[in-house]
Amino acid sequence: MYGYHGKILRINLKTQEVKVETLDLDTAKKFIGGRGLGTKFMMDEVDPKVDALSPENKLMVVTGPLTGTATPTGGRYMVVTKSPLTGTIASSNSGGFWGAELKFCGYDMIILEDKSEEPIYLNIVDDKIEFKSAKHLWGKLVGEVTDELQEAHGAKARVMTIGPAGENLSLLAAIMNEKDRAAGRSGVGAVMGSKNLKAIVVKGSNKVGIHDPEALKAVFKDSLKKIRENGVTGEGLPTYGTAVLVNIINENGAYPVNNFQESYDPEADKISGESMKEDYLVRKNPCYRCPIACGRWVEVDGKQMAGPEYETLWAFGSDCGIRDLKEVLLANDWCNELGLDTISAGTTLAAAMELRELDLVKAEEIEGQPLEFGNVNAIVEWTKKMAYREGFGDKLAEGSYRLCDMYGRPDLSMSVKKQELPAYDPRGIQGQGLQYATSNRGGCHVRGYLISPEILGLPEKIDKNALDGKAFWAKAFQDLTASIDSAGLCLFTSFALGADDYAALINAVCGTDHTGDTIFAAGERIWNIEKMFNLESGVAPSEDKLPRRLLEDAIPDGPSKGQVHQLDKLLPEYYELRGWTKGGIPTDERLAELGLK
Ligand code: SF4
Repeated sequence: MYGYHGKILRINLKTQEVKVETLDLDTAKKFIGGRGLGTKFMMDEVDPKVDALSPENKLMVVTGPLTGTATPTGGRYMVVTKSPLTGTIASSNSGGFWGAELKFCGYDMIILEDKSEEPIYLNIVDDKIEFKSAKHLWGKLVGEVTDELQEAHGAKARVMTIGPAGENLSLLAAIMNEKDRAAGRSGVGAVMGSKNLKAIVVKGSNKVGIHDPEALKAVFKDSLKKIRENGVTGEGLPTYGTAVLVNIINENGAYPVNNFQESYDPEADKISGESMKEDYLVRKNPCYRCPIACGRWVEVDGKQMAGPEYETLWAFGSDCGIRDLKEVLLANDWCNELGLDTISAGTTLAAAMELRELDLVKAEEIEGQPLEFGNVNAIVEWTKKMAYREGFGDKLAEGSYRLCDMYGRPDLSMSVKKQELPAYDPRGIQGQGLQYATSNRGGCHVRGYLISPEILGLPEKIDKNALDGKAFWAKAFQDLTASIDSAGLCLFTSFALGADDYAALINAVCGTDHTGDTIFAAGERIWNIEKMFNLESGVAPSEDKLPRRLLEDAIPDGPSKGQVHQLDKLLPEYYELRGWTKGGIPTDERLAELGLK
């Protein structure tokens, strides 16, 4: 058996029953692994209408066939569940080393069912599974939990845990591993918290079988060369991390400021990757077998910590009107410690600031704590209150859509399907806006990173403001991304690698006969099953939309001045390309062609 161990670990958290089941390899190959396989199991085993925080929801932790292999960035895993934030399928991807270690335990996936009566953690060492009390860990920060569990189970054990945000069922809660790597989006940490599961410790000794080691060496060498020669993966990301994007996106007039009220920040450089390198960078912080090493490690006032991604710099920075890099670094560190999704946490604060600016949130409600755009004292304290649901933080913990809805202005939430949008204003990047609107997990840039062709010119430069061809690019990027996520690789490899490269890597590991075309086809299958889950969960096709501001209010200034997003002109072609009805529903015919009927 190559690439897969062929084993599923099914754990009932209530009864503490453990079963090792056989993974059907035909199903595994059809959905590749990770995101695809997890969604297939969710579709088969969980009623999409289930309350996401009830014991009936399941939490799938799924590796890909390349996880734990000698492939570039081959250490990733996905958490797949129903999202309490969006009501859609949630599939959140994380790097670091935990995913590879789970694979070394001899399992392709873990299915976590029901709910423990008391806080517990799991200790998995190959075929030994222990249920341990986590009463002494409940309430503790991610760093403390990780240190304590490594002390208890050895420095080589890898720890995945939730922080207080997950325990308190914040809909913005992440699942953390290695302290600073996150399965961040869609509230997956709240699902883990709802099951009273604090952490999973893994330590394994099972190598992943490789079909053709010599072929793998050759494909690896070729992939590595492409990654090193590519300007983004060989230079931009290794030098500045994803923070290299601050100035690039700002100069393109697509850098949202003050909750997307503007899209250009003359002071953006103060919180850029270049400034972070100059003043705070200590070293790079790479994931398992990663030749790109975009992760940052910084020092603030003598304390070392993980550095923020571009999205975080923006969310707590310009989107909140803040240009104090030190304060943003601290907010990022607190999100890691508390187990919060930095994108949703920062942008929910930005939405709250606009509500306050309009005097919809009254002064007495925030008890003297600053909540204005640009106030550096606003971000760290509110981040903590958000995780602990203290005072007004209880409302923030519900995310920006529910927050704005409480004050009668849901239109001020810059979200899609109730999940907050990331750091690209789609009024200045039309294809990315179509991708946001149609994303199966709500507002998200990494379901299809159209920034690559529209801004970075990879694999070719296309006009960011044009409409022609954008439906094609959105679909192609969404489908390819679904396959990369499912294989167990980092999406950032796609700046340098194409579908044929992924096919070659998977074939060398698994002995399959993928081509570039079948990689796209598998991704399309995954995209469609995700859409079916959402439809059955009650998320209507009319949710493929953007916030009113982005459709009607022209960008007031900067390089994209005067633009709005033209979603209505793009959606019909997108649905047609997908073979869906004009109303955005997959047809029986298309589902049958994809092997989903
Ligand atoms: S590119 Fe960055 S996020 Fe991706 S695997 Fe490497 S270090 Fe991790």
